[in-house]
Order: sequence, then C-alpha cells, then structure tokens
Amino acid sequence: MAEIDPQLVPVLPRTAAATAAGHLTLGGCDAVDLAAEFGTPLYVFDDEEIRATCRAYRQAFASRYENSEVVYASKAYLGRWLAALMDEEGMGLDVVSGGELAVAHSVGFPLERVLFHGNNKSEQELREAVEADIGRIVIDNFLELSTLERVAAEAGRTQRVLVRVSPNVDAHTHVKTTTGVRDTKFGFAIDGGDAEEAVRLAMNSPHLELMGLHCHLGSPIYDVEPYVLANEVMIAFAKEMSDRHGLELREYSPGGGFAMQYVRDRPAPAPDDYAEAVVGSLRKALDSEGLPEPRLTVEPGRSIIARAGVALYTVGARKAMPGVRTYVSVDGGMADNIRPAMYDAAYEAIAANRLGDAPKETVTIAGKYCESGDVLVRDVELPRLAAGDLLALPGSGAYCLSMASNYNHAPRPAVVLVRDGEATLVRRRETYADMMRTDVWED
Ligand SMILES: *Cc1c(COP(=O)(O)O)cnc(C)c1O
Repeated sequence: MAEIDPQLVPVLPRTAAATAAGHLTLGGCDAVDLAAEFGTPLYVFDDEEIRATCRAYRQAFASRYENSEVVYASKAYLGRWLAALMDEEGMGLDVVSGGELAVAHSVGFPLERVLFHGNNKSEQELREAVEADIGRIVIDNFLELSTLERVAAEAGRTQRVLVRVSPNVDAHTHVKTTTGVRDTKFGFAIDGGDAEEAVRLAMNSPHLELMGLHCHLGSPIYDVEPYVLANEVMIAFAKEMSDRHGLELREYSPGGGFAMQYVRDRPAPAPDDYAEAVVGSLRKALDSEGLPEPRLTVEPGRSIIARAGVALYTVGARKAMPGVRTYVSVDGGMADNIRPAMYDAAYEAIAANRLGDAPKETVTIAGKYCESGDVLVRDVELPRLAAGDLLALPGSGAYCLSMASNYNHAPRPAVVLVRDGEATLVRRRETYADMMRTDVWED
C-alpha cells in the first residue's frame, strides 16, 4: 500500500494523501491528473492549507494579545485569487510595490488593512498609495519622508505612517535575507540618530500621522530569540522617543520572517511558539518601560503560503557520472524557482506518481535553464526515475512564482487551486505571444 513518507507530512499541505496506485493527491486531486490536464511545470495551491494557516496565526496572536493584526506579506506570492482569499480570512496585506497594491485594489481588498513597505518607493507609487487611502505607509528613508509629505500635502490628505527602524539584531539567517542589522539597506538605524530624526520629522509633519514603529529582521528565522531581542531594543527606543519627543506608540510591528519546514530534518516553530515569544517579550518590555500596549501587527509571508504550494515537474533527461553524481533534469528550474540558486535553499523532492516505490539512488535534480547553478535539489534519495515520471517539490508556495522570470524565454507556469477534489485554474500558463506582447518592434 502506497503512503506518504511520514517524515514528509510536515512539508506537504495537510490534505496530501496517496492513492492505491501510489499517486500523490492534494486537496483531493490526483497530481498525475493535474499534470495531464494543466501541463507542467505546474504550481498547485491547497485552499484548505492556506486558510487553516491564516486561522492558526490569527488565533495564536489574538488569543494572547487581543489588539493584534496578522498581515500577509504578499511579496511571498500574490495573485488576485489570493488577495481575495486573504480578505475572506480577515488578514491584512503587506505590499512592497505599486503593482502589488494594484492587485489588492483590483479585488476590492479593504485598503485600510494594507501596509506599504519598501526601501525605494517611487513618487508615483507613493501617490498611488496616498490616493488609494491605504492604511499605513512604512517610511524607510529621509527621501521618502519628504516626498511622502509633499505627495500627501498635494492630495490634501494626512497619511498614517510607521517608521521602519533597523534594530541591529542578527536573525541568523542567510546574508541575502538578513535585514535588521547595521549593514542593511532597510530602515533607519538607531545608533547615529537617524531613527530618532525620522520620528521627530514624522511627528512634526502636518501631513503625516505617526502611528508607531516597525522593524523586520529577515527570513526565515528558525529561532524565536531574535524577536525577543528586537522587542527589547524597539520598545526601549520607543520609550526614549516618548520621553524626548512625546511619541505615543499606538502601533508596533516586529515584522515577519517566521520560518517554514522545507525539509525533513529542519522543523520550524509553530504559530503558537512565535506568538508566545513575541507577545511575551513585548509585554515584558512594555512593562519594564512603563508603556501602554500598542496595536501589534505581525507580517508573516512565507509561513502562510510556502507549505500550501507544491510544484509539479516532469522528469526528462538523466546523466550519470559514476563517482561524481547523477543529474535528473526536469522541465522547470530557476526561472520558476530561483531560491536554490540564489540562497542555497533546500527542498525535498517526491516521485509523485510512484509513492509506493522505495528510494533506489541519490540524485541531483537539475533545472532546464542555461546555468550550471540551475539545480533545484542536491542529493535527494528517490526511486530510479525515468523520463515522464512526475516530481513534486513541496514547500514551493513562497518566493518561487513571485520571483519567477522569463529567463531563456520560458513561459511562466500555470497555477491551480485545489479543494475537495476540484481544481480551479487561477493563472494560465504564459504563451510565447504573452512574452512578445510588450515587444513593440515592428518589422
Ligand atoms: C518580506 C517581509 C515580510 C515577510 O517575510 P516572510 O519571511 O515571508 O514572513 C514581512 N515584513 C516585511 C517588511 C518584509 O519585507
């Protein structure tokens, strides 16, 4: 009887199961049928998994700290369907560009629940955000502060803002995804006085309403300790600003970055573990500084969507180099998932049409794009795969499609949403014509 390797259960959507024939099913849909109907590479998202995770995070924080809001960081992945789902689940939405804001806008997402981040927002983007009357703009730098003031003045609005502070806390994650340290392009540093100056300017501006402070440490953070340290630093800073400038900390965000279990031997804390650490240390810091409780905003992206997404690839060529390694190539790779090439991200791989077959060999799963670094998974144990087999990469919901490119003029994959045995195409595969649509040269 075929079954899912119990060690892989935590990295797959909770609806994942095996058929008697050894096929992987997701949301009650057979992965082999999905691949046949929609082609590969195919990104499958599990509706139940996304909703259950949103609820788990909201419950974890709200049960400990009533005045809290869970905001989905949409740069992890965004489609119109997902923005609508987040609204249904009562989540807020982080955007980092006018494009993401436009997606939220297009489905009528309540814009008061939107936060706008980014270290170099353009004047045009700021104008779009102010005119859309979005909830908060998180100010990252002095140019943005002065531009936003002018834009808000021109629009005759008072824009609610947070100031992004770099708390100089190392989250011990990959250097390319660490953001809260001294050497970072994000936010205002505390030492040297930039953060204080930003607070002072924002408080004194008639067109800005300073709601509070924000930080984000990086991602993925497998340990709760960095949040505890950041809360201490940030609340101490808030107290200083309260003493010196009369800052009222009405809102505080320690950002996102909660981890997700990608591989069998690296579990991640649960939503309750993060909530316990964040809320506990926040209360303690507020208590010791004598500050009232602000609204708490957390911004998980990856941990909301990564597990819900499974990428399906068709196996093609294999190349065995005795004593070196065996490459098994698939029909996707770095164009749809740059994470292994960019920051050595690790994934599991599953023979989705052969769950009953025991592992036979250790192989490296290579992508089809023209870079030696285009490798999806190194040294994974699998049955002996042949051309036409179906390979699933679990944990592909975050930062894969949102970073996808047309490298090698690869059409970006289709996306299906599965639930209760039904699959809905939410994004069709790109065509060659799609890719040439913006090429306006005329012959
Ligand atoms: C990217 C980002 C997040 C989300 O990070 P995840 O690792 O996806 O949870 C949250 N807040 C800010 C400001 C970010 O830039």
